[in-house]
Amino acid sequence: MIKIVVAVKLNQGEIGPFDGAALECALSTKNARVTVVSMSPLSALAQAEYITRLGAEETILISDEAFKGSDTLVTAKILARVVRDLKPDIVLCGRQSSDGDTAQVPAELAEMLGFRFIPYAMDFALDEIQTRTGRYAVETPCVVSVERIKELRFASYKSQKKEVKIIDNSVLGFEKNEVGEKGSPTRVLKSFLSEAGRRKCTFVSAGDMEAIVKNALNKPFPVADAAFRQKDSKKIGRLLVVGEGLQGAAEDVAETVIRFDGAAVDEICGFIQKSGIKNVIFKSNLQNRAIAPAVAARLNAGLCADCIRLETDGEKLFAYRPAASGKIVAKIACEGELFMATVREAGETSGDIVFGIGYGANGYLPQIKAFAERIGAKLAASRKAVDNGLMPYETQIGLTGKIIKPKVYVAWGISGKIQHRTGMENSGTVIAINKDKNAEIFDYADYGIVEDIKNVGGFQKDP
Ligand SMILES: Cc1cc2nc3c(=O)[nH]c(=O)nc-3n(C[C@H](O)[C@H](O)[C@H](O)COP(=O)(O)OP(=O)(O)OC[C@H]3O[C@@H](n4cnc5c(N)ncnc54)[C@H](O)[C@@H]3O)c2cc1C
Repeated sequence: MIKIVVAVKLNQGEIGPFDGAALECALSTKNARVTVVSMSPLSALAQAEYITRLGAEETILISDEAFKGSDTLVTAKILARVVRDLKPDIVLCGRQSSDGDTAQVPAELAEMLGFRFIPYAMDFALDEIQTRTGRYAVETPCVVSVERIKELRFASYKSQKKEVKIIDNSVLGFEKNEVGEKGSPTRVLKSFLSEAGRRKCTFVSAGDMEAIVKNALNKPFPVADAAFRQKDSKKIGRLLVVGEGLQGAAEDVAETVIRFDGAAVDEICGFIQKSGIKNVIFKSNLQNRAIAPAVAARLNAGLCADCIRLETDGEKLFAYRPAASGKIVAKIACEGELFMATVREAGETSGDIVFGIGYGANGYLPQIKAFAERIGAKLAASRKAVDNGLMPYETQIGLTGKIIKPKVYVAWGISGKIQHRTGMENSGTVIAINKDKNAEIFDYADYGIVEDIKNVGGFQKDP
């Protein structure tokens, strides 16, 4: 019988959708012994008890006041200590938690356990796994991070709750300064509401749209990515960029930019140690977001995930990233020897003009697509449009998607939540179409059209 451990975060009594998918993958595997491990506050006990009713053999809650405030590196360390003793064949994790959104713990955990890491699983089987980046044979022991591919079952009303095993630090024996905030190399220095991307909106009628688009395409592209740029001339000495990209962001904060092209964790760690460079950044993409945490775990370093901006005071580097599900932006430093970050680069799917498909465009997709084709627009989407099957995940922009920087962005039926704006706020001209005149998107658009999509271009709703 195969032993599967599922690591889930119980955030305010809830299991995030990715962790739910990982748990469902485990529970629906035949001939598997499933243990659920969660590092969560004691207040999550009721949720852990609910999990015992779903069919797992054992549920373990790792909880101690001393663990409060642990960053991803320390969380992975604590989980690794428990998981190692369970001697699993496979560890399943959700790709990311719904609050932290760093997606770093699975890779760090794999590295600490010395297990093979298979990220971004799109299906789960015991022999082969299709992931976002390819098909991989399952060689155990391994850690697999799972996309939102399944819905977690509900407990049957007949199911009985079992006892949750609680493990605290008296069992694990970490020193006080090894765990919690004290032991965590990444530090949130401050956080604030993100006002980036706010614009003055001119309301126009639907008939004006094509003319506005044409006009905007002819305007020189405004340097709208100020949010990504260092504002003064202070710089650190050497900065290592692993892999491609980020030249501009690196030059803004460092005198000397050194580039290393190796992609294997061994090579990268070797280069960092040999060169003695103390600041290391990776472009935030699928591959690097799996590699960088493994490097950080090996070097015991803090890693800031998926940052939107770097800054320096001339001595240290700081990273900014959306936090609390994107509601705020946090400024983060790394204590200790090394600063590491994965940093977003704008513009990956940019074209001259991008149509953003929101959930409000539901029913009008063929017409919008035909319109896009006619004027040469590329398509992007909000998460809700993706979640509801209107558009493929690859087109998602925002906090959990890509950042784009087209000359013109037209938001079709998009409410304008901060998580979406993070992906499009650097566009040249933003045009929003929404039937709700109070929609947030209008505060972040240059032109607003308060109209039902059906009245824009005379669209007919799909029957
Ligand atoms: C951790 C986390 C990460 C997230 N990451 C992302 C991300 O990366 N990207 C992202 O986009 N979202 C993300 N979200 C989700 C985000 O908070 C919003 O829920 C999402 O962006 C909403 O999508 P929407 O605007 O398309 O849909 P809705 O919020 O449902 O808005 C639809 C809009 O369309 C309008 N509308 C409806 N019908 C019509 C019509 N016929 N004509 C005109 N207007 C119409 C409505 O007035 C409304 O404003 C994330 C959320 C969390 C918690």
